[in-house]
Amino acid sequence: MESQELYDLTGLQSEIGVMKNRELELYVHIPFCAKKCDYCDFLSGPAGKEQQQDYVEALCREIDSCGDFSEYEVSSIFIGGGTPSLLDGNLIFKIMDRVRKKFAVADTAEISIEANPGTVDEGKLGFYRQAGINRISFGCQSADDTELKKLGRIHTWEKFLESFHMARKAGFDNINMDLMSGLPGQTLRSWEDTLGKAIALGTEHISAYSLIIEEGTPFASQQLELPDEETERLMYERTHEILETAGYHQYEISNYAKTGRECRHNIGYWKRTEYLGLGIGSASLVNETRFSNTQDMTVYLADSHKPEAIRENIEILDKNAQIEEYMILGLRMMSGISRKDFQERFQMEIDKIYGKIIEKYVAGGFMKWSGEYLCFTRKGISVSNPILAEFLLGK
Ligand code: SF4
Repeated sequence: MESQELYDLTGLQSEIGVMKNRELELYVHIPFCAKKCDYCDFLSGPAGKEQQQDYVEALCREIDSCGDFSEYEVSSIFIGGGTPSLLDGNLIFKIMDRVRKKFAVADTAEISIEANPGTVDEGKLGFYRQAGINRISFGCQSADDTELKKLGRIHTWEKFLESFHMARKAGFDNINMDLMSGLPGQTLRSWEDTLGKAIALGTEHISAYSLIIEEGTPFASQQLELPDEETERLMYERTHEILETAGYHQYEISNYAKTGRECRHNIGYWKRTEYLGLGIGSASLVNETRFSNTQDMTVYLADSHKPEAIRENIEILDKNAQIEEYMILGLRMMSGISRKDFQERFQMEIDKIYGKIIEKYVAGGFMKWSGEYLCFTRKGISVSNPILAEFLLGK
């Protein structure tokens, strides 16, 4: 394939003035953190002010030269990390300004930024508002300071409260709290306490994840006192009971929201909306092609203006790969996947491929048809991972 063909992933049909009939989500990666947490394997680490500025310059060059997206309207932007709130507010403003110059961002776009407690202040929050950012996702993790300390987090619950209230005062009415269960030393009671405190704050959205010990992290080489399997199961069940009772509905395996506050960016990802990742290590899905940016900072800083030099792992998805992704991502959502939508997208009946698997799990009470929607039951959600693996077509 000629390089021009390979990197002009959007095709060349678009011209100025053409209706923006395709939806695009943007992910912007900021790879800096004040300090590495002991469980984290994300592409992130500490950096000085000068490095941060150099990175933002490189990011802006990438935005300017990432290809022709004039056919698209951007429906959501997620500035993630790392800790984007570590950057000076004017740098975030600069990035958003560059994004708006390059892309047609919908007036109604959901624009989120990840922030860590203790790294925001009034000045930064003011820049975010000016830049049109309308959602903050706080990496809170726990309301218990001992648990936070064991995780290697830089903040306390008190610090989180300060940041949360500051964000409210700055006008943010759409806030997510990331919370983690299955932590070293955590009990069912302390997890319930964390959930209760989050509810009392009235946060609009809660992402409730379980800790996963990743290879190569400090946690992987430590003897940790983790909750046993039964406690973990109870934590998952109680999360659902407590949050649903408090008015948060579960719309994905790990995500709960008040009505209308579901994260549109994540829903787009699970529905396979096209998305472009900007910044080091970020992943993209454009024109049924997956690719990711280099994880090498030296290469990124030097070549971010040349997509062909920084994009790697380019994979054009064939129909089977698209179908697998559609099922595995779509079934993560409680609403499930639609028989009709499947038929329209892939020009075939879902039963033709998955009839037997679906029948087996429906009969076992793990999945159900709700009208034309196929989704997990409560019993199925807790064992969803091995079930989802059966939707891989290579099996
Ligand atoms: S703040 Fe988040 S991205 Fe940074 S080290 Fe901790 S878990 Fe990883």
